Amino acid sequence: MSGAGGDRAPLPGHAGERSRELYVRATAVLPGGVDSPVRAFGAVGGTPWFVDRAEGAYVVDVDGRRYLDYVQSWGASILGHAHPALVAAVRDAASRGTTFGAPTAGEVELAERVTAAVPGCEMVRFVSSGTEAVMTAVRLARGATGRDRIVIFSGCYHGHSDALLAAGGSGLATFGLPSSAGVPAHAVADTVVVPYNVVPELDERVACVVVEPVAANMGLVAPEAGFLAGLRAACDDVGALLVFDEVITGFRLGRSGASGLYGVSPDLWCFGKVVGGGLPLAALGGARALMENLAPLGPVYQAGTLSGNPLATAAGAAALDLLVPDVYRELGAKVATLGAGLADAFASVGIAAQVPVVGTLFGIFFSAEPVRDHAGARKAAATDSYRAFFNAMAARNVALAPSPYEVAFTSLAHGDEEIATTVAAARSAAAEMARA
Ligand SMILES: *Cc1c(COP(=O)(O)O)cnc(C)c1O
Repeated sequence: MSGAGGDRAPLPGHAGERSRELYVRATAVLPGGVDSPVRAFGAVGGTPWFVDRAEGAYVVDVDGRRYLDYVQSWGASILGHAHPALVAAVRDAASRGTTFGAPTAGEVELAERVTAAVPGCEMVRFVSSGTEAVMTAVRLARGATGRDRIVIFSGCYHGHSDALLAAGGSGLATFGLPSSAGVPAHAVADTVVVPYNVVPELDERVACVVVEPVAANMGLVAPEAGFLAGLRAACDDVGALLVFDEVITGFRLGRSGASGLYGVSPDLWCFGKVVGGGLPLAALGGARALMENLAPLGPVYQAGTLSGNPLATAAGAAALDLLVPDVYRELGAKVATLGAGLADAFASVGIAAQVPVVGTLFGIFFSAEPVRDHAGARKAAATDSYRAFFNAMAARNVALAPSPYEVAFTSLAHGDEEIATTVAAARSAAAEMARA
C-alpha cells in the first residue's frame, strides 16, 4: 500500500475499513469514486480516506483516524476547519434562506471588503468557482479588446474551461493542444502556451495574458525577479490585458495577494478558494471601466443562478474579517519554520529535495536543483519520491496533498505544536525513505 514495495502490513494512518467500504460504494455511482480527480489518490497509491468531520488543523475520517491536514480544501480553509465565527455566520445566513435569485446585502458587503483590500480592484463579479472566474475574465478581456488570442503558461492551472485546458509543446511558445479529451482543437486554437518565468513576445492579436503570479499548481514555483513586471510591460506595449489568477494566492499571501506582495497590478484579478471561506464562491475583479463591460451594463454576457450565494458571501466576509495583516505575519513565520524544518529533514539524510517557500505557501520538489518551470516540476514529479513521502507522512497521521503537483496549505489553526509535530514526522519519514 505504501508503494515502497515489500510485504509490510498496510501502513497505519491510511484508509480504514469504513473508508474502503465507502470507496467501493462511491466507485459504483461516482466516476473514480470522486467529484474531482486528485481526490482519488491516483498519484500516491491506495484509496482515499473519507472525511467525517474536521476541526482546526485536523480532519477526522470515517474510521476515526485523525490527520494533521495540509490540504485544507486546497487552501480555502485558511482559518482552519469549522472556525466558530465562520460556522456562526453560515448558520445565521442559512436560517434566513439559502438562495433567492435576488440581490442581497451580503454580496455588497463582501464586494466592499475585497475592493478595499486590493488596490486597483474597484469592482467584482461573484461566481461559484475559480473555473468560472477565469473563464469569465478571458471572455471579458476578449470582449473589451476585440481580440481573440490568449497567452497562458505551461504548468499553471486556471480551472477546467475549454480554452484554458491547453497543453504546450516542449519549451518554446506553441499553440495549445487540447489537454483533455472533449476539448475541440478549435477551442484552444487561440490559446498560446509558453514557459513559466520567461516573458513572452506579444503582438496586437493578444487579448490577455493569464498567469498564476506565484505558480502553485505545479508544486510551488515563485516568479523570478522581473517576471511579473516584465509581463505588465509587455502587455502595456501591445494593449493586451494582464490577468492574475489569484485563486490560490488571493487572501493567502496577504490581504492584497500576490499583486500586493510583488507590487505589480494586473488589469483583472481572479479570486477563489479563501475568498469564499470554504463555500463555493469565487470572483473576478478589476477597474470600473473594464468591469462595466459585463452584462447587464455591457456586451459581455455572464450569469449564475447561485452566484453571490448568501451562505457563501457570509462565509467569505467572516473569513476576510479575521484575515488581518498580523495573521499573515504569524502564518508566514510558521510556514518558514516548516519549510526550513523539512529542508533540513531531507538534507540530513541525503535526499535531494527543494522546499520552496513563498510567504504563507510551501511546496516540496524532489529535485537537486531549484525548480523554475513546468519542465523542472515534471522531472521532480517523475521520481516517485513524493509518493513515498506522502505515504510515510500519512502513516504518521500527517495529510499532505495526494499529488506532487500541489502545494501545502497551512491554516491559522496550525499552532507551534502542530508545526513541531510535522517537522518531527518529516524527519522520521525522510529517514525511512533513505533506508528504503
Ligand atoms: C483551484 C484553481 C482554479 C479553479 O478553481 P475551482 O474553484 O476549482 O474551479 C483556478 N485557478 C487556480 C490558480 C486554482 O488553483
